[in-house]
Amino acid sequence: MTAKILDGKALGQKLRAGFRQRAEALAAQGTRPGLSVILVGDDAASRVYVRNKVNACAQTCFHSEQHIYPADVEVSAVLAKIAELNADPKIHGILVQLPLPRRFDAGTVLEAIAPAKDVDGFRAENVGALIQGQPCFIPCTPYGVMKFFEDAGIPLKGQEAVVVGRSNIVGKPMAMLLMHAGATVTVCHSQTRDLQAHCRRADILIAAVGKTGLITGAMIKPGAAVIDVGINRLADGKLCGDVDFASAREVAAFITPVPGGVGPMTITMLLANTLESAERAASA
Ligand code: NDP
Repeated sequence: MTAKILDGKALGQKLRAGFRQRAEALAAQGTRPGLSVILVGDDAASRVYVRNKVNACAQTCFHSEQHIYPADVEVSAVLAKIAELNADPKIHGILVQLPLPRRFDAGTVLEAIAPAKDVDGFRAENVGALIQGQPCFIPCTPYGVMKFFEDAGIPLKGQEAVVVGRSNIVGKPMAMLLMHAGATVTVCHSQTRDLQAHCRRADILIAAVGKTGLITGAMIKPGAAVIDVGINRLADGKLCGDVDFASAREVAAFITPVPGGVGPMTITMLLANTLESAERAASA
């Protein structure tokens, strides 16, 4: 079997065309969706992610702004900027690009964002609401993964889903969304005893670790849907995921590539959350 590729660029473009129409309709009534991105430090990968987000806003008729600070900026200056953006009616979504420099407590910074503008969905209220099935904003990466299943008609009810990785921003919310969709979910992490045995049972396998080649074709159940969230940079500068694509695509029924899979969908769902926030603000 050669897996069908789930193309995040194509799906993202399709969804963004609809967002653009909604954004234009909203702008005609006086509200242009606005996203503000805060970047601290000069991490090269973070700069690329921020640029991609700002470009996506421009293509979708959103207002966007970036606030870039040197790594040694006072924490209070960043918190003051967030307070200013919380009160700015032009801004419907605030995103702090992670990781922050070590001396920042990321939790404190994220909690400073007004819940109604927390378009990354990382605040504790959002996470709690997600567990209860009533999120204000669904975290963008897992939200984008769910769109792949919806678009490709991949069933989740009653399926065995294995999520590898238990971070607050990907693994945990991913597991929660799959559980809400009716899958039976196993979450694996660095202490898991037999990763291969768990993965081999998965109808739905999500890799969100950050380790090149962690998941090989031999670990995949024939006919599974494999979603590779991982982003790793090889010595030659090329990007790859956590899944060994060449061997996995011979076993899986569906697979996402890296790049061009989950990455573009994460940005697409950031636009979705920002648009939703703007629509809520306009109708308030
Ligand atoms: P974290 O580093 O926060 O979490 C990694 C998780 O992987 C941890 O739960 C860790 O376990 C687990 N892990 C580490 N080693 C193993 C192992 N050998 N076997 C099983 N599990 C293991 O990363 P993130 O969740 O933030 O990101 C994961 C990956 O996804 C990264 O490559 C990141 O760049 C990428 N990413 C991609 C996005 C996209 O848009 N495509 C968006 C966000 C992230 P433990 O908890 O025990 O330490």
